[in-house]
Order: sequence, then C-alpha cells, then structure tokens
Amino acid sequence: MASPWKTASVPGLQLGLGCGFWICRSYRLLFRAGAMGPHVVPRQLVWLSRWQAVCARGASVQHRTRAGVSRIPSLLSPGGALGASPLVRRSSSSTPPGAPEVVLTQQRYPVTRLPFSAVSAEDLAAFERILPGGVVTDPEVLEASNVDWLRTVRGCSKVLLRPRTSQEVARILRYCHERNLAVNPQGGNTGMVGGSVPVFDEIILSTTLMNRIISFHSVSGTLVCQAGCVLEELSQYVEERGFVMPLDLGAKGSCHIGGNVATNAGGLRFLRYGSLHGTVLGLEVVLADGTVLDCLTSLRKDNTGYDLKQLFIGSEGTLGVITAVSIQCPPKPRAVNVAFLGCPGFAEVLQTFSSGKELLGEILSAYEFMDAECMWLVTHHLHLASPVQESPFYVLVETSGSRAGHDAEKLSDFLERALSSGLVTDGTVATDQTRLKALWALRERISEALSRDGYVYKGW
Ligand SMILES: Cc1cc2nc3c(=O)[nH]c(=O)nc-3n(C[C@H](O)[C@H](O)[C@H](O)COP(=O)(O)OP(=O)(O)OC[C@H]3O[C@@H](n4cnc5c(N)ncnc54)[C@H](O)[C@@H]3O)c2cc1C
Repeated sequence: MASPWKTASVPGLQLGLGCGFWICRSYRLLFRAGAMGPHVVPRQLVWLSRWQAVCARGASVQHRTRAGVSRIPSLLSPGGALGASPLVRRSSSSTPPGAPEVVLTQQRYPVTRLPFSAVSAEDLAAFERILPGGVVTDPEVLEASNVDWLRTVRGCSKVLLRPRTSQEVARILRYCHERNLAVNPQGGNTGMVGGSVPVFDEIILSTTLMNRIISFHSVSGTLVCQAGCVLEELSQYVEERGFVMPLDLGAKGSCHIGGNVATNAGGLRFLRYGSLHGTVLGLEVVLADGTVLDCLTSLRKDNTGYDLKQLFIGSEGTLGVITAVSIQCPPKPRAVNVAFLGCPGFAEVLQTFSSGKELLGEILSAYEFMDAECMWLVTHHLHLASPVQESPFYVLVETSGSRAGHDAEKLSDFLERALSSGLVTDGTVATDQTRLKALWALRERISEALSRDGYVYKGW
C-alpha cells in the first residue's frame, strides 16, 4: 500500500537537495545529505534527560570515541528487524548468572538503623492471620526483592508481604505501627534510585497481588484500578477500548501504576500528556497508622478544597501506601508516525525540536534524543541495529493525530526542511506497528543497555 508520506516527501527531497534516496519495502524512507564534519560534543551531554547517566566499569569511567564507525551497522539489513523490543520485565530469580553479588547497603554506606523493632515469630504469625498465604520468608524469593533493578543497593529483609486489598494493607500497617516495625512499599522494583528496596531489615510490602481493574468509563476514558496493576497490562486493556495510558516507559512490562504514581514517573508520553499531577484524578492511600485516605474521585474538574492526592504523587512511599489509582486515559491516536533521525550536533538537536514544535504543532507527541554512546550501548549489548548512519546525536520524533494524510504532509514538510537546512543528516520513518516499536526500542532500552555495561552513576 502506498504511503502518502512517501509520495509527498520524496520528490521534495530529491529536488530540494539533489541527494540520493530510496524507499525500502517496509514503508521506510531513507534520506541522506553530505558527509558529517567533526563536531565537539561536551562529555556532560552524554544522555541529557532525567535518566542522564555516565557508564563506567568499576571506578574508572570508560571513555568511548565517536569514531568507531565499524561498531554501528549503519543501515537496517534487508528484511532484518531492528531488534525485538522485549519490555523490561524483572526476573523473580535472584542473582543473574555470572553477576557479582550486590554489597549490602549498610556495609557500603555509613547508615545507621533507626530504633525499629525486629520482626519476631509472633509478628510472622500475626501477618499470616491477616494475609493467609501472603507471607513470604523464603530467602531465594526475598533476595530478588532485596536488590534494586540497577543492582547497586541491597537490603536484608526477612519478610515480604503480599496483600490483595486495601483493607489488608490497612491491617498490616496498623499492626506494624503498633509494633514499631519499619515497612518498605514495593511495586515492580524497577525504580532507578534504590527506593524500592530496604536499607536494613524493613518489611517489604509488595503490591504484586493488588492487580485488579476496578472500573473503566468508555466515554470519559477514566480508569480506576488497584495500585499493583502492571503498566503494560493496563495499556493493553485500555487500547482494546480505544484509549491509551497517558504514560509509557521502558519498564512498562514490570512497573506498577502505584509505583509510577509514587515516583511521579515522566516517561515517553510526557510531552503530549504532561505529568501524573495532571492525569491522575484520584488516589486511595493507606497511611502509616493504617488510616485509609479515600481520594479516589473520578471527577476531572474537581475544584473542591484541598487536592490531597497531589502530596502522594512523587512521595516515593514516604507518606503512605498507594492502594488504588484513578487516571485519565486519552483516546488512542488514529495515525502515528515515528521518524528516527541523525543529528550532527547538540545545537541541531535543539533546533530540530524548535522546528518540530513550530511545523508539527499539535501532532508532535514525543521528541527524544540520544547520543552516539547510547546508540553504541544498545547496538553492542542488545544487538539492536541502528537504522541510520552513525551520527553524534539521534532524535526520535513521534507524531500522533487523527488523520494519516494530514499528519504525513506535516511530517514530510518538517523533515524536508530539517534535511535541507542541515539540522539532520539521515533518517528513517515508520508508520506500521512493528517498525514503530523497533524504533522506540532504541530509546526505551538504553537503561537496560546501561545496566549491562557496568555500574551507572547518575547526577546533574
Ligand atoms: C528501563 C526503565 C526505564 C525507565 N524509564 C523511566 C522514564 O522514562 N521516566 C521515569 O520517570 N522513570 C523511568 N524509570 C524509573 C521509573 O520511575 C520506575 O520504573 C517506575 O515508575 C517505578 O515503578 P515500580 O512499580 O517499579 O516501583 P518500585 O521501583 O517498586 O518503587 C519505586 C518507589 O516507589 C515506592 N512505591 C512503589 N509502589 C508504591 C505504592 N503502591 N505506594 C507507595 N509507594 C510506592 C517505593 O517504595 C519506591 O520508593 C525507568 C525504569 C526502568 C527500569
């Protein structure tokens, strides 16, 4: 089937630039300009986003040159996939084969345990009465819950609790409050800052079994669910009904919506739908003493009094355990395009963004960039193939709209201008689901690739 984007854009590219182009069978348009000149890129711009990280092995930062052309396959091999995009799923097993054991946090850092009680046999019996079958003390199972996703911190909790209802969470917290026992809420354990695992022997309170969808309103798109629902499963559920979740992130296969709210996760749809402070309509939270705070409203235009739920968005488990979430889901866009482009420098990344906002307007739904080191990581560790020639920077531009022809025309105009002005030097465009996912995988799986490279140091 002919793509309007291709027919609209190809002649423009050819005439405007006089450069070669060709169309591949998988709706792919490749365009090329002259060779890139040398560019100086500051080291601190390695991956400029909230997840900025510099990868290193041990204590010494590994420096990689940008000249390693041979390491990056420049084009997609015919018929070859860019690489499947397995969503990040946390294994329930403990140490991956060959991985060194993670040092206990209390040995690594100068931290002092506060005067909380230690879990006794009587406490375990009390938990078992509250949660029959939901008390885990098996060291093998506990090990995975004691270590964070990046394998940088490790607690030594002896008990993991898996409630199914808010009432059970309330009873557990009330009991722990009376007994002065410390509790660490845990969702999918994909957090990047070590907050999901205990420092010492805190009780791990997991929302894994709190995975029930409570209601979905097919007119307003309001989803109400328990906090332990996995983001990807919620996405599938609402997409079958013509909606999308307002957030998406590489950890979607494991992270819980409660964990997303607790971390105020930004993710890949932030540009279009904004933060969870806007899309979360209501929350149910159990406070440390077992009090259930019911703010689980579904009313979007709610201007009555204090908006208490906002306190819990981004509170990372410090103020209470989120047990249920009401969230606004937007309609699923009918037409989605993804362009993956090579940029000669960071200044061009910024200018391409400005140009995209101006020319794509309301259909611009995502703009992500990565640098050559990130591309090296995903191609080297995850064997994904770069769809464009090697560049100092890469940008992923997504458009989401309701009319394919209209969107393709706008995207075509934007790309032609970006190419003719030298802002981008190479690129590919996808409209079908498989290729869209493959292009997104290059961005989404950077964290995973970083974790395979060694330790990750974060900071601005
Ligand atoms: C591959 C990958 C990509 C990521 N991409 C992004 C991204 O693009 N943008 C972004 O912002 N983040 C990103 N993250 C990090 C992101 O914040 C977490 O993955 C996710 O939001 C945490 O959800 P979780 O269920 O795994 O929570 P956990 O990791 O289990 O917990 C995180 C914190 O929230 C607390 N918590 C968890 N559940 C609850 C609850 N029900 N009530 C109260 N407190 C709770 C925990 O105590 C902890 O402090 C990424 C992570 C990975 C691994």
